[in-house]
Amino acid sequence: MTECEVKVRGRWLPCTLYEALTERGELMRCKYCHGPVQALKESSTGGRAHIEHLQSHPGCRFPVSKFCGVESKHPLALK
Ligand SMILES: [Zn+2]
Repeated sequence: MTECEVKVRGRWLPCTLYEALTERGELMRCKYCHGPVQALKESSTGGRAHIEHLQSHPGCRFPVSKFCGVESKHPLALK
């Protein structure tokens, strides 16, 4: 996932991976299931910078490899 949503003055706005990496500490959520996410920098072992759920959720279509096939809201969904 390379996009998420960030809360700005009470509204959820789209946020790119680059913005997410520079806005650490801001509340961020997945745009699909609304679960809390974090942005991770490129790793020294070659892993690319990306956004991931703090707690993975099978009812989210991201990442598609872990999607159970039925969409549902994250149990920790942020409003
Ligand atoms: Zn999600």
